[in-house]
Amino acid sequence: MKTILLVEDEREIARMVQAYLMREGYRVEVAFDGEEGWRKYQELSPDLIILDLMLPKLHGLELARKIRRESDVPIIMLTALSEEADRVAGLELGADDYVTKPFSLRELAARVRAVLRRAEGLREPEKLTYGPLEIDLTSREVRLHDKPVDLTPIEFDLLAYLARHPGKVFTRRELLSAVQERSYASFPRTIDSHIKNLRHKIEEDPKNPRFIVTVHGVGYKFQAEG
Ligand code: CA
Repeated sequence: MKTILLVEDEREIARMVQAYLMREGYRVEVAFDGEEGWRKYQELSPDLIILDLMLPKLHGLELARKIRRESDVPIIMLTALSEEADRVAGLELGADDYVTKPFSLRELAARVRAVLRRAEGLREPEKLTYGPLEIDLTSREVRLHDKPVDLTPIEFDLLAYLARHPGKVFTRRELLSAVQERSYASFPRTIDSHIKNLRHKIEEDPKNPRFIVTVHGVGYKFQAEG
């Protein structure tokens, strides 16, 4: 059964949406403000989040931003007609879809189905291949020109994280939080030494890297095309 987290401070709407989606066969948990939404998101790891934007304690956009730092879980925003700027900001943050209040429950349920179906289709590949570099996300093995490369767990996590999002620029802080589980370091600059080691292992010319490129003043990105 798919779990949906509904973050909505208007209790009447929350109750109606919850009842309707439960009848459609979902498990639906409700949070009534942004902070509770964040707590329940962490607790439940839901399959989808329905997120009102105007929320007490933590604005819906702030919550969406926090969630997007950690996961690609589908997000459908509930927005008022007058919140067009917020809607655009939300989509730019990576929300998947929105419905405008007042909405019909049938319409919302149709969006939920569509977004879940899309997320299903985008399931992560098990292996990433970029030219001579192969990254097996399941076995955590990396091969370069078909020869195994010996990486530390942090190096593997960093590489996998970057390579899952080719072309996207990450700040050191973002990369640090992506590998936080394995690293106790709290200084974004420690990322630099991991990147340096990683380059020595996977780049033919570490001083002139083909894969992990420095973006000056920002951070790093993974380059798919050398
Ligand atoms: Ca609201």
